[in-house]
Amino acid sequence: MFLIATQVVGLIMLEETYEGIPREKIPWGPKIDYTKCISCGKCVEFCHNNAFAFEEKDGKKLSVVKNPNNCVVFCRGCEDICPVGAITHPSEEVIQKIIDRLKSEKTKT
Ligand code: SF4
Ligand code: SF4
Repeated sequence: MFLIATQVVGLIMLEETYEGIPREKIPWGPKIDYTKCISCGKCVEFCHNNAFAFEEKDGKKLSVVKNPNNCVVFCRGCEDICPVGAITHPSEEVIQKIIDRLKSEKTKT
């Protein structure tokens, strides 16, 4: 079990570090494929960490990834609720390698 530093913003628990690595150094977060997205807003409603938000674009309401670092590392919950499969996350293997490298750099300093 790893200790995760958290910050409470309203009722939202945000990770400040993951396995001792500052969260912003870990490139884990959702991406929206706008060739598939139908702007239903389910991802905005679903993510309790407010990774998504609505934005106005050309008079239309668009779901955007507003706070990618709010995404819980290795969570993929919103991929399952998107009705058209428009949400993806990076490869877990690739991100774990980055985390391992950052951890080993940290122990050397
Ligand atoms: S849930 Fe999927 S289709 Fe709906 S707004 Fe989000 S990304 Fe777009
Ligand atoms: S994967 Fe989880 S934490 Fe990340 S944006 Fe989706 S629902 Fe939010």
